[in-house]
Amino acid sequence: MIRPKTEEEIELLKINGELVSRTLAEVGKRVAPGVTTNELNEVAETFIRDNGAVPSFKGFEGFPAALCMSVNDVVVHGFPSDRVLEEGDIVSVDCGTLYKGYNGDSAYTFPVGEVDAETRRLLDVTKASLYKGIEQATAGNRTGDIGHAVQTYAESFGFSVVRELEGHGIGKRMHEDPGVPNYGRQGHGARLYDGMTICIEPMICAGGRGVYLARNGWAVHTADHKNAAHYELTVVVRNGRAEQLSTFDFIEKDGNIKF
Ligand code: MG
Ligand code: MG
Repeated sequence: MIRPKTEEEIELLKINGELVSRTLAEVGKRVAPGVTTNELNEVAETFIRDNGAVPSFKGFEGFPAALCMSVNDVVVHGFPSDRVLEEGDIVSVDCGTLYKGYNGDSAYTFPVGEVDAETRRLLDVTKASLYKGIEQATAGNRTGDIGHAVQTYAESFGFSVVRELEGHGIGKRMHEDPGVPNYGRQGHGARLYDGMTICIEPMICAGGRGVYLARNGWAVHTADHKNAAHYELTVVVRNGRAEQLSTFDFIEKDGNIKF
């Protein structure tokens, strides 16, 4: 059995969740045609360190940067680079923090300027599929209930689900048990209970679900080079229900945000 987190641990995970959420919003403000992914990475690293935390991705198994920056057909784990973002691109930004020994981990796919209607639909459906998954993160349900909800929703729009990568538990380590696949069968997989903290992170493809690993050993591309989107939030199962420890509100809402 996976050890449930204590209230103190959940609080530290929430502080991290808020920091990754705010970091993604800082990045999002600057996503625009003409900006390089290196510049955005710099913004995030500075913001995280200014808040007394460490960008947990940097140096993780040799990853070179604070953010994963995955443009268009890159699903996840892209390196920031001198690539200049262009109108109509999408960029998936994955961010991790380490603060007081605990982790934060969330991701958001931003449109660069105006994107076409099909791309907008991919972003909307992927994000909505994440919330469908979160709804299933209740005590007594299983990880397969989350995966099934994500998969059936995304596929109902003709999109496909990457199966080689999945969500995960989170705590002192960024990746803990259980794995949280984005596909699956209801009633199967690890059981969820109060005190479990997990990251749910659908990776959804506009075309087929086939992917390959780039020669650098990191970037995961769609085989058909169609776009893919990636959204990730951290949740805790508490009082039987999923409660978000990270949020997109800083990105999507102006003014005073209740978190
Ligand atoms: Mg992540
Ligand atoms: Mg993750």
